[in-house]
Amino acid sequence: MSAPPVDSVLETVGRTPLVSLQAAPDSVPVYAKLESFNPGASVKDRIGKYMLERMLERGDVSPGGTVIEPTAGNTGIGIAVAAGQLDLDAVFVVPERFSVEKQQLMAALGAEVINTPTSEGMGGAIDRAHELAEELDDSVVPQQFANPLNTEAHYETTAPEVYGALEGEVGAVVAGCGTAGTLMGLARYAREQDPGTYIGAVEPEGSLYATTKGAESEEGEYKTEGIGTHDPATNELFEPELVDDVLQVGDRETHDELKRLASEEGHLVASSAGAASVAAVRVAERIAAGELEVPYDSVVTVFPDSSERYLSKGIYREFEEWED
Ligand code: PMP
Repeated sequence: MSAPPVDSVLETVGRTPLVSLQAAPDSVPVYAKLESFNPGASVKDRIGKYMLERMLERGDVSPGGTVIEPTAGNTGIGIAVAAGQLDLDAVFVVPERFSVEKQQLMAALGAEVINTPTSEGMGGAIDRAHELAEELDDSVVPQQFANPLNTEAHYETTAPEVYGALEGEVGAVVAGCGTAGTLMGLARYAREQDPGTYIGAVEPEGSLYATTKGAESEEGEYKTEGIGTHDPATNELFEPELVDDVLQVGDRETHDELKRLASEEGHLVASSAGAASVAAVRVAERIAAGELEVPYDSVVTVFPDSSERYLSKGIYREFEEWED
């Protein structure tokens, strides 16, 4: 049965499909939540809608005001979709290294895009966003890296959708961490349902979330986009105590997997989904081998966005030609 018509694209955010992966072991299914089915084609539509609605309710900003956000892109698109429908202007501060497709989409949605040098990293973008907010009346910086509404959006929407679809039978949650809002929202909900649920945080090799669990990690560059951190202290939402393990996946394995997901399973997903898939299947194999004790023999992961957004970076070319 098809869904009845709705009045605004905002009402189509969420309720994304959950699809089992063919690469999983037979005894332990791995389910991927396909977030490219959102109207702005990524998981970040959820926080765009949720954060702006709550901030308007609280009076942090009023209709006609401005939202300013430092963002790698997907959050900008998610916020821009919501801002347009909620009568807010949107300005995004984006480090140059992030994909041009995302910046074009933000502009198409009516937002202003300001670039900061890649060398200043996300920190430079965050500082510039706060400077702009000082200059503009009735403006607000949601700051997804530090805003509890980010985690709450996933606790309130993503997690109940997953648990509803699987009738609560979730043994492990394994997802990539950028801001960590997605995983933390899922993890908090999961631990309330069953404290024994395994929680795996996924990052690229070269990222430093692993150090928060006392593991060694050599800082380095990576091509995988949207997850990982060079300074866990700036990722204020990440709660190490909610995480069993930080699982690292190298760029090459991620790249092989995102190509395999397309050619064998029909998933046009990007690098953070490739990494999540590798890690989730590894966890399922450990469960299947009896190495991990979990309340149910199942693993849930999240595929945050689509590969179409990264074609200009050669995501489907040979590994060496894939640009970061
Ligand atoms: N994948 C992609 C492509 C993203 O843009 C993001 C957000 N930075 C993530 C994964 C990670 O999501 P979160 O910020 O909720 O940890």
